[in-house]
Amino acid sequence: MKTKLWTGIALLAVLAVVAVVLLSGVIRTYPQVVEEQQRTPSPSPVYGNVMAVTPDPSQPTPLPVMKNGSRGVAVQALQMKLRELGYFSDEADGYYGPVTEQAVLIFQQQNGLDADGVAGPMTNELLFSGEAAAFTATPEPSPIPAAVTEMPESTDMDQMEEVVLEEVVLEEEVQAQKGYVTPDGFPLLVNREFPLADDYMPYDLVDMNDYCDSGIVRIKYKETQGEREAVDALMVMLGDAVAEGISPWQISAAYRTVKDQQRIFNNRVNEYMKENGLSRSKARSATRKTVADPGTSEHHLGTCFDITVPGTTFAGTEQARWLEEHCWDYGFIQRYTKDKEKITGFLAEAWHFRYVGEEHARIMRDENLCLEEYLEKYKPVI
Ligand SMILES: [Zn+2]
Repeated sequence: MKTKLWTGIALLAVLAVVAVVLLSGVIRTYPQVVEEQQRTPSPSPVYGNVMAVTPDPSQPTPLPVMKNGSRGVAVQALQMKLRELGYFSDEADGYYGPVTEQAVLIFQQQNGLDADGVAGPMTNELLFSGEAAAFTATPEPSPIPAAVTEMPESTDMDQMEEVVLEEVVLEEEVQAQKGYVTPDGFPLLVNREFPLADDYMPYDLVDMNDYCDSGIVRIKYKETQGEREAVDALMVMLGDAVAEGISPWQISAAYRTVKDQQRIFNNRVNEYMKENGLSRSKARSATRKTVADPGTSEHHLGTCFDITVPGTTFAGTEQARWLEEHCWDYGFIQRYTKDKEKITGFLAEAWHFRYVGEEHARIMRDENLCLEEYLEKYKPVI
């Protein structure tokens, strides 16, 4: 009787110890996992252990769904596999943070899966199937999933931002086009009848203060920008003028956003109301004679320049005469002239020049056509 009691107590004790050991194994905290890994000099591949539970390869143990915040050996196995395939370069620490999420996301993108950064059944299956594609540095451009931008702040943010930025650059390369030239090679018409599309994007703007030789031209305002191609042509033209002794030159305006134009328009309307006592509607009509409505200004293209002479009215200067004669050979046109006012809808602007390329400019000069007339005559479809 006594022996039986002792055997019973001993059995209970053993069971209790087993239970404690098992429980402690199940509810290990994340620091414990890390500590264990650091204690083990050369950890055996964890996924090997997972597989060992079910040796039959036809029925692999499904990995759990893992996402930002998940922890444990399954996460560690995932990280090691991602590292093997080149998607992940950090330590496989069993913590599914933003870096792991980003790695999963890119894995999904490059393997044609829904890219949400969550390691679900399909992602896990492909990842461990032996058929997953390894990381390639220049993936096909793909839309940036919202998940990327919604990730929480973390010390790994820099690395994440780099990846996101790379994708943004790819997107922009796809979209970037010379919008100021039509697909069939003609200068894009911008006027009241043909306002610019709301989503118009400049192609290759340069900061003219940095870009232009100040020995040739003065850029009146800071942060004046223009399309590189047009600015290059402008500098060749003005450089030749200076070489012929015609100077000084100044650029008073170039690229303008729709917002800039709105501000200029509103200021002029207010001036007319205040200084000339006009009603708002009369002031707007008066403004429209000399200021383009936002969206209808050629300055939105970045290929137009208001060329002036510091301290004097441009019309009648030798600079004005020189440009009137020579601008065409450099690909520029005088956009708004006295004899075309009815067609362009603008009063003459001696100072406003638009770059359209030499071929178009010479025909317009030779046939005395403004842009509207030229396009109507030569462009198959406007
Ligand atoms: Zn202008």
